[in-house]
Amino acid sequence: MGIAHFELSSRTERDITAIKEVALRHIQDVSYESLKVETRRTDKTFPLTSPQVSAEVGGYLVTKTGTRADMHNPDLVCWVKITHNAAYISTEKIPGVGGLPVGVSGKVLVMLSGGIDSPVAAWQMIKRGAKAVFVHFYSYPYTDKASLEKVIELAQILAVPNYRSTVYLVPFAELQQIIVAATPSPFRVLLYRRMMTRIAQRVATMENAEALVTGESLGQVASQTLTNLRSIEAIADIPILRPLIGEDKAEIIEKAQRIGTFDVSTRPHQDCCSLFVPKHPATRASVTDLADAESGLDVDTLVEEALNNLEKRVVG
Ligand code: ATP
Ligand code: MG
Repeated sequence: MGIAHFELSSRTERDITAIKEVALRHIQDVSYESLKVETRRTDKTFPLTSPQVSAEVGGYLVTKTGTRADMHNPDLVCWVKITHNAAYISTEKIPGVGGLPVGVSGKVLVMLSGGIDSPVAAWQMIKRGAKAVFVHFYSYPYTDKASLEKVIELAQILAVPNYRSTVYLVPFAELQQIIVAATPSPFRVLLYRRMMTRIAQRVATMENAEALVTGESLGQVASQTLTNLRSIEAIADIPILRPLIGEDKAEIIEKAQRIGTFDVSTRPHQDCCSLFVPKHPATRASVTDLADAESGLDVDTLVEEALNNLEKRVVG
């Protein structure tokens, strides 16, 4: 059934006649014995009030179809919505995505990996009114370029509710090699994550973003235990938001399918975090473990060098 709509002509009598005819056509295949018309105007300059439109259209439908009007318990409700330039007619209420207008909640920097979870995390924040900017770390030439292409496409998909997307691309391979050479292997993923977080924070400052967002979900992989999340977060000075923290993979996949990111996310790519990591990474690395493991690294210089090689793309 869906929604029927047409442009208004600015001639009230003609518009009311059109609303009546379109409404009659729209309800002709439905079976009912009683009906009610409910009108909403988003444009209050339309010369008839909402109750007047409902009465006119309702009277017409009842006469034409030989049914009766029922204001309290109708079999069928016919909704009429009048905007500044169009009328919409439907017999069902179709829920929208909900949420808040993009930007009213400020700006966040989303760490976008190319996987399933982070685009969904971004979407949850955009839905709550945050403007999202993205950062992606890649290990090319040690991995292929697929993650870069995927991240650009994902940012484009997310740009629909978000208007336009800015994506920062950070080459990460050199830094990973330095970490590999200087630190114990069970901590590598967590040390990658801490470096990513430090670099992302600087990008957030450049962009006036007030929080980082990740697609982490409690217990999903070894790096996402409470202890490990805490040890990553220990070096952050701005909030790290994790909108998917309490969601199961199946729920996340269902959302990814609904928002249209799933097919891009599931295309194969080589994840930078799986590079040079052991089969059994630490599941409980304390803040001190990681600080000790990093003690041989010149963290500040490594962050500056990464920022020097930052590339900015605007998509959407
Ligand atoms: P995703 O499905 O989003 O890839 P995941 O389940 O694979 O998540 P991890 O690989 O542990 O989980 O990554 C956790 C989070 O860290 C991601 O959701 C993302 O926010 C961030 N992240 C991981 N890798 C990258 C990357 N290469 N660039 C930017 N952010 C990343
Ligand atoms: Mg991933």
